[in-house]
Amino acid sequence: MNFEYTAKSLDLQARVQVFMDEHIYPLEEEMRAFRREKLWQIHPKMDELKAAAKAAGLWNLFLPKGYGDLSPGLTNLEYAPLAELMGRVIWASEVFNCSAPDTGNMEVLAKYGSSEQQERWLRPLMDGEIRSAFLMTEPEVASSDATNIETSIVRDGDEYVINGRKWWSSGAMNPECAVYIVMGKTNPDADRHRQQAMILVPADTPGVEVVRPLRVFGSLDSPEGHAEVTLTNVRVPSTNLILGEGRGFEIAQGRLGPGRIHHCMRLIGAAQRSLELMAKRVAVREAFGRRIKDFSSIRQDIAQSRCDIEQARLLTLAAADKIDRFGAKGARDLIGMIKIVCPTMTCKVVDRAIQAHGGMGVCQDTPLAGFWVYGRMIRIADGPDEVHMYQLGRNTVKDYS
Ligand SMILES: Cc1cc2nc3c(=O)[nH]c(=O)nc-3n(C[C@H](O)[C@H](O)[C@H](O)COP(=O)(O)OP(=O)(O)OC[C@H]3O[C@@H](n4cnc5c(N)ncnc54)[C@H](O)[C@@H]3O)c2cc1C
Repeated sequence: MNFEYTAKSLDLQARVQVFMDEHIYPLEEEMRAFRREKLWQIHPKMDELKAAAKAAGLWNLFLPKGYGDLSPGLTNLEYAPLAELMGRVIWASEVFNCSAPDTGNMEVLAKYGSSEQQERWLRPLMDGEIRSAFLMTEPEVASSDATNIETSIVRDGDEYVINGRKWWSSGAMNPECAVYIVMGKTNPDADRHRQQAMILVPADTPGVEVVRPLRVFGSLDSPEGHAEVTLTNVRVPSTNLILGEGRGFEIAQGRLGPGRIHHCMRLIGAAQRSLELMAKRVAVREAFGRRIKDFSSIRQDIAQSRCDIEQARLLTLAAADKIDRFGAKGARDLIGMIKIVCPTMTCKVVDRAIQAHGGMGVCQDTPLAGFWVYGRMIRIADGPDEVHMYQLGRNTVKDYS
């Protein structure tokens, strides 16, 4: 692979950097306090920021060029360093309409949605008028094995009737969340991987109840939140089914590949920023008669972090390059590898940065605590580490035996 970025990507990297400097970093502390204290409210400057990003041509950059007119025309490899820049501030990717779970949901609709579904839901999502959530995980079953999902989706005339209980529905607490993509069973007697389907459910459909927000290490992650949601005799038109009955796994494969690259690049951005904050802090602080930067354990932590980040970055770029050339299926093993490597790497690097900051590192005065939580939760979300290792191990044995 060619490790040089294209001129187009370099130009956009410079522009995203300028945007971050002018609009995002100056608001960072205020936004952190707002998100903590004003629950389920959107910061008054959010719409203004989104309009500025749109006007600057920094909008929907995540959607790869294979999507034709819908896409701003970047490859995953060109987009990866932009996601890294956005990941340096926990809420920044939303400003560019590049945040999960909307990106994955938009990609599902762009790839598999009917023209009616695209007009009704994809267009407002791509315009940033509404937000969305993805409802797969269920409290009653081990959802890392998605064949366990029990929510029922039953055809009744021109409608489907949905019953089930979901949790960890990220984004579903957001007052702007208007639609869910729900995974459930349409064909419970079919082959294990042909039982599931995905269906669009408007958030205001009768029978939908947002039961409670879940906390992640004590934080509510407002305004997006992670909700527990019940669906009781929820009726939607049969045209809301995406792609067809029994095709949920096929859609899930298409959804998760690029999404994992986005998460990994954002995590690398968080780790890189943590390293930079650490370097700045230890350069000025003194203990036991010398600058903290001069203790060899600190230098080792910094050097090790730099190596860890660069290794993860290169692996993720290789995955992005492979997905561009061979699709999500062809890049399957590399995508598994980055999902295993990047969240743990981020946790380690952020942990070292927290330690070097002393007490300041665990409080609200730096983004470090939020970065650590992000890395830790991605070790579980989008498939726990062990599941990716289980699959990568199986594929590797198959390849070499
Ligand atoms: C902050 C956050 C946000 C999330 N957002 C969403 C969302 O928007 N939408 C959504 O649908 N879900 C979401 N999830 C849910 C997430 O995808 C699931 O939690 C995850 O898939 C694991 O499922 P589970 O919680 O049922 O754990 P289980 O399936 O019960 O697994 C528990 C543990 O068992 C172990 N295990 C499982 N399989 C294996 C194996 N093959 N080998 C070895 N060990 C194994 C692992 O340690 C695993 O963590 C989110 C989760 C978190 C924490």
